Amino acid sequence: MRKVLTKIAAISAVAVLAAGALAGCGESNTVIMGTNAAFPPFEYTTSQGLVGEFDGIDVAIASKIAENMGKELQIEDMEFDGLIASVSTGKVDMVVAGMTATDERKQSVDFSEPYYVASQIMVVAPDNTDITKAEDLKNDKNVGVVLGYTGDTIVTEDLQLDESKITRANRGIDIVQDVKNGKLDAVVIDSATGKALAEKNGLKVVEDAEAFETEEYAIAVKKGNTELLDKINETLAQMKANGEIEQLALEYDEKLAENAQ
Ligand code: GLN
Repeated sequence: MRKVLTKIAAISAVAVLAAGALAGCGESNTVIMGTNAAFPPFEYTTSQGLVGEFDGIDVAIASKIAENMGKELQIEDMEFDGLIASVSTGKVDMVVAGMTATDERKQSVDFSEPYYVASQIMVVAPDNTDITKAEDLKNDKNVGVVLGYTGDTIVTEDLQLDESKITRANRGIDIVQDVKNGKLDAVVIDSATGKALAEKNGLKVVEDAEAFETEEYAIAVKKGNTELLDKINETLAQMKANGEIEQLALEYDEKLAENAQ
């Protein structure tokens, strides 16, 4: 009996030691990425992803950041609208979600250096001929956006469409279906994602570079978390300098185009 007890004590001592080592003696061994995995090619789910079921350009970038920090990457998938609050309250360490670094968001979080330049585009039916520029959306069109995306701000504040004409969804991949089934005339969404979704669903992309300004995607951390931000910027600088980000963009465009066939 005594022997057994000693053994148990020894085992628990080892367990405590192991837990201590895993936690880096007080420091966590994981870095948690918050995202909304419905934004291909940046983040989406698939049967065999890069990290569990998750795949995409942002997942690849975040993996590199974690690797450079000697940490495990953990991914928390949630609604886009809740990401800023999650990082501000420390539920996640960084938001890597194709997030545009807007002045409004900069009041709540700190952003890394930008890693991708995008703009908004319109996704319409393949036979649509009456939407050729953003202004055309004002002609009584039913327009879809994703709640809290920059596209939402643009149709609401810049184009000032009538509220009754705007449909807001939680996921870009769902709202594009409504263009396909005729419920909506157009969806205003980020360029790379819009192109990927249009291709997948046999829809058409309409660009209007004059109306839609370029946007820069960046990684968000809790205000004042310069330690993590510096590490993120180091990895981004390295990945930009060696062409890795550009390479990822090409790779995932191809990957998704193949899947759309
Ligand atoms: N770039 C857009 C934004 O920041 C959309 C990002 C996203 O859906 N993941 O609002």
